[in-house]
Formats: sequence, C-alpha cells, structure tokens
Amino acid sequence: MALLSIEGLRVTYPGMQGSLLHVVNGVDLELYAGEVCAVVGESGSGKSQTAMAAMGLLDEQAQVSGVIRFQGNDLVASKAWHGVRGSRIAMVFQDPMSALNPYLTIERQMTEVLMVHKGCSRLDARDRAIKELNHMRIPDAARSIMRYPHEFSGGMRQRVLLAMALLCEPDLLIADEATAALDVTVQAQILQLLKEVRDSHHMSIWIITHDLGVVAALGDRVAVMYAGRIVETGPVQEVFDQPAHPYTQALLEAMPRDDQPLRPIRGQPPSPAAIPPGCPFHPRCPRCFDPCDKEMPRGMSLSGEHKAACHLLSHPQELAS
Ligand code: SF4
Repeated sequence: MALLSIEGLRVTYPGMQGSLLHVVNGVDLELYAGEVCAVVGESGSGKSQTAMAAMGLLDEQAQVSGVIRFQGNDLVASKAWHGVRGSRIAMVFQDPMSALNPYLTIERQMTEVLMVHKGCSRLDARDRAIKELNHMRIPDAARSIMRYPHEFSGGMRQRVLLAMALLCEPDLLIADEATAALDVTVQAQILQLLKEVRDSHHMSIWIITHDLGVVAALGDRVAVMYAGRIVETGPVQEVFDQPAHPYTQALLEAMPRDDQPLRPIRGQPPSPAAIPPGCPFHPRCPRCFDPCDKEMPRGMSLSGEHKAACHLLSHPQELAS
C-alpha cells in the first residue's frame, strides 16, 4: 500500500470578477515507503500547491476536492492534518531564513517541536535537538543551538531546517525547492544529506524542484507537472532515457549543457485563469496535431510504472512521423 496516495486532487482559488483560478487540475500521485519521488515542472505548474494541499497548509480561500490518503487516512475528508503535520509528514521550504523565526534561538524553535508533538521535557528536547544538529553536521552543535538564524550561512540554515524537520522522525519529508537558493557546492552537500537521511531514517522523500539535475541526483521516480496536471511519470532513468511527452522532452532539452546553446521552451506556461482547452501544452507543443486543441489526452501506460498523457501515444502514425 502507498504511504501517501493522492487521487483526483483539484485546487481552485477565487479570481477577479467571479473567475476561478485552477491551480491543480486532477492530480493522481502515489508515494511509497522509502522512495524519493521528484515532482518537476516550471513555476506555476502546481507542484507546491499539490504539496501544500497534502500538508493541509493551503490558504483558507482554496477550494480542495479529491482524496489525499496518508497511511490509509483520507486527510481531506477527516481534516486530521494536526495529527500528521510536523510529526508524520514534515516539510522543508526553499528559503530557510523566512521559514525560521528570526527572533527566537534555534534551541527555542527546535525544542518547541518536540515539546508540542512528543510531549518531551525541555531538557530531553534540547538533547535530542543537539543530536539532530550533529547528524546534520552543524559544527559545535551544543553551542550553535543557542544562536539566532541570522548567525548562520544559507547552507547552515537549510541544515538546521532539515534537522528540525527530522526531529519527530517523520515517515514522509517534503522538500520544496530545498536547494534552489544555495550555491552549487552547498547544494551538493544538502543533496548528500538528504540521501543519508532517506537511508538512516528509512523515510520517503517528496522533492519539488524545477531542476532536473536534482531529480537525477536524488530521485527514484519522477512526476512531470504542467498546468496543474501530471503529464508523465515513471522511474527517473527510464523517463530521462525515453521521455514520451513533448513537454518532458522539451524540459530535458532545455537543460544547460557544456558547449551547447540553451534551447528554451517557446512560449509561457498558461495562467490558471485561462488554461487552454484540450491538451494545455498545445499552444507550445512542436508536435501539436488535430485532436490536441480539443480533447484532453488520457494517461497511458508505456511500460510498468512509466505513464504519459499525450495524444501521440494513441496515434502511432503521428508518433512515427
Ligand atoms: Fe503535444 Fe498534442 Fe501531446 Fe499535447 S497531446 S503534448 S499538444 S502532441
């Protein structure tokens, strides 16, 4: 059974003059114990909104429908997020400075997590927090814990956030662009730490990123999102070697390579207020053909876990041309 199972998730916000903003449009996603699943796509594709919905952290104006089942519990129906958020599911955000409270020491922020979720005494919570900071290789953890967030570098702050997220030994860690604001060497260190955490804590990790390099370094499985939908999913190696959806192909071709000019994807992602009919990628797709601007393509299985939603897959003559 999947640790987390999302079925038909839709998230809508009220827009201007009675319009609706469709930010997540029928996402199906499963995460299994011990795997790293990477959700990738351009800004505004719905990656973070899907994760925020799974954490029950969406704005109160958001209208959410669908099923989000965690360890068998439907969180949307039961609204039981308080029992899992921070303890069973933890999240690390992109900007560690804004995720940490600048007015409180790291000790105060970390011990509070254990006192609230685990009922620890302040002393036990402090010992446990220092252990986790050591695990994240924060130098001189017993002294560092008494500092304020601004006294740490960006990479060290991200390690502190990771340590804080791991305090309650969650089953699932969601890392939302957790390395995006870091320089390349620090990014590599954080990715290495995430790998170690997955193995040492036997947890699942859901990475949200627009960086295919991060997916290649860490992911077991990848889900490619566009306009609030998953358009392709499968084992990372298989999707990277044989991308089936033109959007995945375009993302891979847009990756910077030595001695090659950049190949950007033409056009812009659609606004959630005006998602194109049919396949939402059709205005930008170099392979667009007859049914694409009218009919939404259904997800088709290519092999095992590898699936994609593109009309080319059900039109072999177009696919071959
Ligand atoms: Fe392109 Fe059509 Fe496939 Fe959409 S369904 S990605 S427009 S070929």
